[in-house]
Amino acid sequence: MCGIIGIISTKEVYSNLYVGLLALQHRGQDACGICVQDDEDMHVKREVGLVGDVFTDLDAERLKGKIGIGHVRYTTAGTNITKNAQPFKVQMPVNIAMASNGNTINTEDLVDYLWDNNISMHTSSDLEAILGVFKFELKKEAGRSKVTSEHVFNAAQKMMKRVRGSYSLVIMVEGVGLLAVRDSYAIRPLVLGKSREGNSYVFASESVAIDVLGYKAMYDVRAGEAVLVDFDFNVTRRIIGKVKKKAHCMFEFVYFARPDTVLDHVSVYEARLALGRELSKVWSGKDIDSVIPAPDTSRTAALAFANKIGVNYREGLIKNRYIGRTFIMPSDGQRRDALRIKINPISSEIKGKKIALLDDSIVRGTTAKKTIELLRNAGAKEVHLLSSCPPIIKPCIYGIDMPTHEELIAHNRTVDEIDEILGADSLTYQSVEGLERAIPIDHLCTACITGKYPIPMEDEILKRMGEKRKKEKKE
Ligand code: SF4
Repeated sequence: MCGIIGIISTKEVYSNLYVGLLALQHRGQDACGICVQDDEDMHVKREVGLVGDVFTDLDAERLKGKIGIGHVRYTTAGTNITKNAQPFKVQMPVNIAMASNGNTINTEDLVDYLWDNNISMHTSSDLEAILGVFKFELKKEAGRSKVTSEHVFNAAQKMMKRVRGSYSLVIMVEGVGLLAVRDSYAIRPLVLGKSREGNSYVFASESVAIDVLGYKAMYDVRAGEAVLVDFDFNVTRRIIGKVKKKAHCMFEFVYFARPDTVLDHVSVYEARLALGRELSKVWSGKDIDSVIPAPDTSRTAALAFANKIGVNYREGLIKNRYIGRTFIMPSDGQRRDALRIKINPISSEIKGKKIALLDDSIVRGTTAKKTIELLRNAGAKEVHLLSSCPPIIKPCIYGIDMPTHEELIAHNRTVDEIDEILGADSLTYQSVEGLERAIPIDHLCTACITGKYPIPMEDEILKRMGEKRKKEKKE
């Protein structure tokens, strides 16, 4: 998962890109970057690290321009090195910069296509393949003439025909403007906002980035749509992809997005409250003293759950906010170490108590197991674990880093078997129906909890992507 932002304005955009990226930091902590275009050239800075660490005051002087894009990276394809940090830029037929959120499932085909056309890749990022295809198609469209918005739309359409998978893109094209594209299933989010004075437009992964800039969210980019804002601030919307049955990622609502974001007209906060209420319907009604959230994402669901069952909601685990989200840490070893220094129990809330510990989801189980141990060591009498997400039984190949069956604790295991491994006194999962009721969107991607992948594919793709990711993680 990643976060993207693009701004076109009558004013310098660097500081707003920076602020927008800070608001999207939760979507990726591995690397970040900003690329801006001034009258002469495109200027880019991209590095491994957090936004606040990578960018300095000097960058405000160097990254001048009234159009730009930015990115925060969470590695789900390729390795976490500066070479793979986004945005990427190329110079043919004009300066083009691109940043993406998502994951392609046919990168090898794209690489072959580019190779057949004498274009080779220099990184292991799937963005390079997408950008390569776009650049190639744009060059063919424009020929020797000046690149126009028509050329850009046509090239984007041809690119969409070739690229399979989930992708939301922001693309800056010299002399033309800022383009945003969302895949035909609209798996990853993308929203357009406008400044109140009407002299700036922003595309962002989440509405929270638009809010913090003081802009107003206008609409979500639709499935298969490309939206172009040119330098006269004309906004052109076109459906250029073959529109499929939409499949917005349910995990954005469960875990990934910020609670103060609205995705595809649904408030993430409201959805999490509803997840907590739904969970109360499958709760067995055990005698407990308090409901404690596994910090921090599950707090909203835990609050609603506690209210619904009439038990006290208590803060029993305090998180050190200056350590990254454990789920995003790239290796299992790092994940365990981070948890030890990240969460501390409040003894008075734990000792001698029967606790319902509510987590947003259980992916590998590493964090849940450790948290249960922590509570027991702090004197908890009983620990009953609840997950506001149903069992995650299948890998995600659309941009959440859970790429293989083996690493999923719920794959091929019963709830009792999972409970045995985690060491809780009981384990309660959300039902798939409960989750679908809680997130009022007609078409959700639920592939990782149902095995129903929205994009038709050969079985072999799942295996191949899992193997590739395992190799990249080792590297
Ligand atoms: S498989 Fe799961 S995590 Fe991946 S896009 Fe679908 S719902 Fe989201």
